[in-house]
Amino acid sequence: MPELPEVEVVKKGLSKLLKSGDLVSKIEFHRDNLRNRLPKQKLKMVKKQSILAVRRRAKYLLIETSDYILLSHLGMTGQWREYKHPKLHDHISIYMQSGLTLVYNDPRRFGVFDIVDKAVLSKDPRLTILGPEPLENDFNADYLYKVTRQRKIPIKSLIMDQKVVVGVGNIYASEALYFAGIRPTARSSKLTLRQCEDLTVSIQNVLKQAIRQGGSSIRDYVDTNGESGSFQENHAVYGRQGEPCLKCRGAIRAKVLSGRNTFWCVNCQK
Ligand SMILES: [Zn+2]
Repeated sequence: MPELPEVEVVKKGLSKLLKSGDLVSKIEFHRDNLRNRLPKQKLKMVKKQSILAVRRRAKYLLIETSDYILLSHLGMTGQWREYKHPKLHDHISIYMQSGLTLVYNDPRRFGVFDIVDKAVLSKDPRLTILGPEPLENDFNADYLYKVTRQRKIPIKSLIMDQKVVVGVGNIYASEALYFAGIRPTARSSKLTLRQCEDLTVSIQNVLKQAIRQGGSSIRDYVDTNGESGSFQENHAVYGRQGEPCLKCRGAIRAKVLSGRNTFWCVNCQK
């Protein structure tokens, strides 16, 4: 499943392809629904809309035009690419005046695509429930310290809560906790300010590293050029059960926590 780093890599790819000022000629849906019904009745509104920017909020891609936001979530297996040849599971085509055609492909169809009026975007319930972006300034030690005070749940479950901070998926949560030296099962309210500092920094470092490496290609994720990411080759703990810890050589442990596979080192994480 694409996580924040993978979506950020796709955002960068789309930003390169979609030139600012290019006009949308036409959008076509090749089926009626993905996770939800596709907004067929809004299709005529985006004609001649000018591209302004491509942004990301949590795992949503936001293609900003003069009056609308094309909102895309990749779900489990969604991919955007420049159209060259048709492929099975191509569901959406965006034709640009420059001649570029973008295609959205999604075999599992858990993705979301919507056309949202910019005037109401800030009230969109899909976005209003989201916590701060992990790579922006409002996610910091003071903030994490404050939100952990009354919470008794394991810290790993807390940082994976989109209302607390967005985009810290299962792989990145295990990785960040390892580098911060904090056990995934530690009770959130017991974290010190210093640990909150270490954890926010670790989350940011792990996500930035993953973005630099093009994301983690678990299953079939590829970017807009069809390239796989390589971060999965550098996981320090995720998927390394029984293998030696990179710091102490002790065996990496694994267990299921809140329904998710969780990996850590008993010596290095307290
Ligand atoms: Zn260790």
